Amino acid sequence: MFSNPLSYDEPVFRPPSEAYSLIFQVTTGCSWNKCAFCEMYTQKQFKIKPEEKIFAEIDIAAKQLPNTRKVFLADGNAMVLSIERLIGILTHLKHSFPKLTRVSAYAIPKDMKNKNVEDLKKLQQAGLKIIYVGIESGDDELLEIINKGETAASTIQAMKKVKQAGIKSSVMIINGLGGKKHSKNHATNSAVVINAIEPEFLSTLVLSFPYGADHFKTRFKGEYQELNILDLLIEQQTFISQLELTETVFRSDHASNYLVLKGILNRDKHTLLNHLSVAIQKPELANLRQEWQRGL
Ligand code: SF4
Repeated sequence: MFSNPLSYDEPVFRPPSEAYSLIFQVTTGCSWNKCAFCEMYTQKQFKIKPEEKIFAEIDIAAKQLPNTRKVFLADGNAMVLSIERLIGILTHLKHSFPKLTRVSAYAIPKDMKNKNVEDLKKLQQAGLKIIYVGIESGDDELLEIINKGETAASTIQAMKKVKQAGIKSSVMIINGLGGKKHSKNHATNSAVVINAIEPEFLSTLVLSFPYGADHFKTRFKGEYQELNILDLLIEQQTFISQLELTETVFRSDHASNYLVLKGILNRDKHTLLNHLSVAIQKPELANLRQEWQRGL
């Protein structure tokens, strides 16, 4: 029987697609930890776990789970570690788990600032196959208001390096992030950024308020007027209509989404826009989640 030898500093988050991955918490918290909408790591102080501790955990886990194929490096941005540190971890993982096919991690664009394409290629060759990046928005004004610490340009620059290095990216945009005032620019400028970086995977989720809307408003540097469901669908429509992609897997199926949308962009763009048009014009015919249909 597997007894977990890993010491986690809870809570631990991972992307849904890493549900069957073995998680090693190589950092604790988020090195930025200032985004207005994010409460994932506000209870934690950012720390880097000592290398010997990580290696010891890998060694113990390798004895109990030698057939591990997928590993996720937590917490909020393991990619903040230096190239040397990451290569050390990836190499140790490769030696310890002979069947390992991929390692993944959360990242923020600034993690790539001091890493060039050659550095990132070394990570790819050492086993890092995909990173998950919350881009949130491509609108500079909104990025400033939510204190993301990034701009459209810094995001594009970072993600282009990742792509050139052959590391896949799964990126996320938050529907409703800017409220009514910023909705149109948020949708349009997010599409500009996504078009520039052509991620392999793109998802959208709806802004939620774990500590209530009022708490969020105190962290939002401006006036925030919440979008209703129709506004959210229209924002989504504006965003998708301006995407020009070749082969990006698109998912809008998080529990927060009112309308589940899935497809390959741009192949399925027309179909997705049709679903959105129906939901906007005739919500009773659209496949909206029941509880939200009543709220339209
Ligand atoms: S960078 Fe990501 S994990 Fe860190 S505070 Fe912002 S949204 Fe949260």
